[in-house]
Amino acid sequence: MYDKSSLNAEDFINHEEILETIEYAEKNKNNMELINQILDKAAPKKVGDSVVCRGLNHREASVLLACEIPEITERMNKLAEEIKLAYYGNRIVIFAPLYLSNYCVNGCLYCPYHLKNKEIPRKKLTQKEVEEEVIALQDMGHKRLAIEAGEDPVNNPIEYIIDCIKTIYSVKHKNGAIRRVNVNIAATSVEEYKMLKDAEIGTYILFQETYNKKVYEELHPTGPKHNYDYHTEAMDRAMEAGIDDVGLGVLFGLEGYKYEFAGLLMHAEHLEAVHGVGPHTISVPRVKKASDIDPKQFDNGISDEIFAKIIAAIRIAVPYTGMIISTRESEEVRQKVLKLGVSQISGGSRTSVGGYTEEERPTDTEQFDVSDQRTLDEVVKWLMELGYIPSFCTACYREGRTGDRFMSLCKNGQILNCCHPNALMTLKEYLMDYAAEETKAIGEALIKAELERIPKEKVKEIAKDHLEKIEQGIRDFRF
Ligand code: SAM
Repeated sequence: MYDKSSLNAEDFINHEEILETIEYAEKNKNNMELINQILDKAAPKKVGDSVVCRGLNHREASVLLACEIPEITERMNKLAEEIKLAYYGNRIVIFAPLYLSNYCVNGCLYCPYHLKNKEIPRKKLTQKEVEEEVIALQDMGHKRLAIEAGEDPVNNPIEYIIDCIKTIYSVKHKNGAIRRVNVNIAATSVEEYKMLKDAEIGTYILFQETYNKKVYEELHPTGPKHNYDYHTEAMDRAMEAGIDDVGLGVLFGLEGYKYEFAGLLMHAEHLEAVHGVGPHTISVPRVKKASDIDPKQFDNGISDEIFAKIIAAIRIAVPYTGMIISTRESEEVRQKVLKLGVSQISGGSRTSVGGYTEEERPTDTEQFDVSDQRTLDEVVKWLMELGYIPSFCTACYREGRTGDRFMSLCKNGQILNCCHPNALMTLKEYLMDYAAEETKAIGEALIKAELERIPKEKVKEIAKDHLEKIEQGIRDFRF
């Protein structure tokens, strides 16, 4: 039976409830009265000095997703943009993935790391190699990483992951430092999540892949990942272990997108109901070509239009949750969805183990084809030309603004006041240390314009003060 507060996967991601939701959405997809009510409910409202969004539940959001009336899609896009601007402003947080090991004991049918794939050379970074990769990433200007590894208790046990995290945080090369390590590793026990918490990780990210249990079990025929309940309940164990920020995601293309969309929102509702705080981020990967993997073998691929609609609908339904898009997507698609609510993107990514220290982008151990192959500097410049502020900020995490504290600040519209000056400061830092001349010129002009535009005198003062410190070369504080 559907129960969002239950700790059993099959209650909070209830198959019947998802089917009923899809049916309800289909039945109401042209019900203009209901659609108008839903859009009104989701619209940002001014309460005192703050802007407040109520979000939508999975049924309401599914109606919007099912509606095919072009005018409604247009209204959804406008609303998504409005919500994004109200909470995240024009900032886009930048990160890079760091692949530690492609050893894996699972049999996931869509993933090139699967045990039976003899085409990819298996590789695991030594601590020396982790250090070299981190130096290469710092030389690009990165401050925030998402570490990735296959599941292999012998080759990549939790102790190995912890050692890698310690190495990453310890590398201080020139002015560089990695200030936030997010972790994307397989579902594990409360005890191991506690070890990750103690290692001071940022967000724990785990993609559900698919919320449909039957499809999930078929796609994960062998290995520990086969256990749907253990995988689906992982975020509860992570939160029980004290990890405040968790990141959800599904791999679009494996199952029908309407099913995944409802499941994703039900998962978010469950976390909110049980832990008082929803997901920190939602990722929206789509299945890509990879070694021994042909995405055409999965018949639920979605068009760019549907993909954009899903993103807009997520932004409207969970206004306070960050949304991440990786280099699986092309520049063109990324440009389109940035407007609809994406708040974090990767740049200059290499999805191979040891890829950042290679001259050429290695393809033999790549996890998937990278569509956006631009350098970080090109991505930063492109963002600024589109009017966004690339942000390398990690301050929330170190200042303890995580979990429900982040969410309550966000809900009060306060994150804007911290994030905007911090984003400008970290951009300034990037421009001074790493940017190409043209990027620097554009960035300086953008910062100047932003500082003049910010009406709040206080924010302006703080920003200027910090900017001066950076210019004087004082680097003993972090953003
Ligand atoms: N091993 C970890 C786990 O089991 O969750 C996560 C690491 S894996 C490197 C990160 C994610 O890559 C997976 O959760 C999956 O969604 C995604 N992925 C796997 N194969 C892919 C493909 N062919 N195209 C796009 N993304 C893929």
